[in-house]
Amino acid sequence: MSTPVVDRRGRALATCEPRDACAACGSGPLRPALELLRVPVHMGCTDQPPGEDAFADQRWAGCERCGCLQLADLAPLELVYQAQHNGAVGGVWGRHHDALVTLLAGHAPRQVVEVGGASGALARRYVAAHATEAWTVVEPNPTFVAQEPVRLVEAFVEDAGETVGAADTIVHSHLLEHLYRPRAFLHTMREQAQPGTLMVVSVPDLAALLDRSGANALNFEHTYFFGIPTLLWMLQDAGFELEALRRFERHSIFVAAVADGRPGRAGEPPCAVEGARAFARFVAAARRDAAELAARAAEFEGPVFLFGGHVFSQFLLGCGFPEARVAAVLDNDPTKQGLRLYGTDLTVRAPGVLAQEGGAAVIVRAAHYTAEITQQLRELAPAVEVW
Ligand SMILES: [Zn+2]
Repeated sequence: MSTPVVDRRGRALATCEPRDACAACGSGPLRPALELLRVPVHMGCTDQPPGEDAFADQRWAGCERCGCLQLADLAPLELVYQAQHNGAVGGVWGRHHDALVTLLAGHAPRQVVEVGGASGALARRYVAAHATEAWTVVEPNPTFVAQEPVRLVEAFVEDAGETVGAADTIVHSHLLEHLYRPRAFLHTMREQAQPGTLMVVSVPDLAALLDRSGANALNFEHTYFFGIPTLLWMLQDAGFELEALRRFERHSIFVAAVADGRPGRAGEPPCAVEGARAFARFVAAARRDAAELAARAAEFEGPVFLFGGHVFSQFLLGCGFPEARVAAVLDNDPTKQGLRLYGTDLTVRAPGVLAQEGGAAVIVRAAHYTAEITQQLRELAPAVEVW
């Protein structure tokens, strides 16, 4: 039976699609591991009526062959990605793009194809500092206007084989973890690429994210866990040989690999059960944290804010922090301010509202972004408590 997608009153809106094979290794039955109930399907903010919000249970399962933890049922893409929510406002992403550009520039690519890259941010950063003949973004839903040498092919990459075949370098940044069928994607890339083509990949360091209690590690967008061994196995399985591996700030993993023309020689996948254990620990810790924060809020007299119009706040509420105790959600992204955090009745405000608040507290649970957010709040409103 597939998982229903329901509205607030429990009325069915759609159904999730059962995963037909392990996301990482492509075979192996999935064994149920952990369920999170009634999770908002979209991780951003919205101006639609609350009654239209969609929820589904997250049914996490482990592959019996390789151990990879993944969602057994996949939510409809049009609900998960119903609006852009990656404002990428903070400094971490700037540093990430700079580091990835440096890695790419070391290979002096002439013809780059970037898969995904909706905003064009990585492309602009590269061509501003380095010469290249063309940087072609293949993206079905671009949000930027291309300017030479950046070009745009508005398509899914499966339909852009000729473009990929003309590249000497393929790059994709924070794409692989979003795909429902990453293995099929990598095989398609290998089939479309000329032998010798370099592929540069950036993915989140999911193990480090879970370690730092990041609710942005696994969710309706990132539907499977993979560490470095599984990532390298997936690349080799598709016919890419490792050339370089770099870690970026316990935030991302960069891999450069070369299409070698001989897929299917990777052997048995590495054991990935550690991801399932780490996720179970993370969920248990988050529930304890939510309970402790709720107790602290009950004793506290001032208003309590949550930072982040994103999954961080949704997850804390899902773990049991009382929504009724939250004055508002704070977010630096001006496109979110004034909207409602999806799946809640909470409005998103600019952090500047704290300047008028004496005796308020802000809960910041934002993994890699926690340090820079905390510093910002201390400068903005020194009297506010940061929890
Ligand atoms: Zn597997």
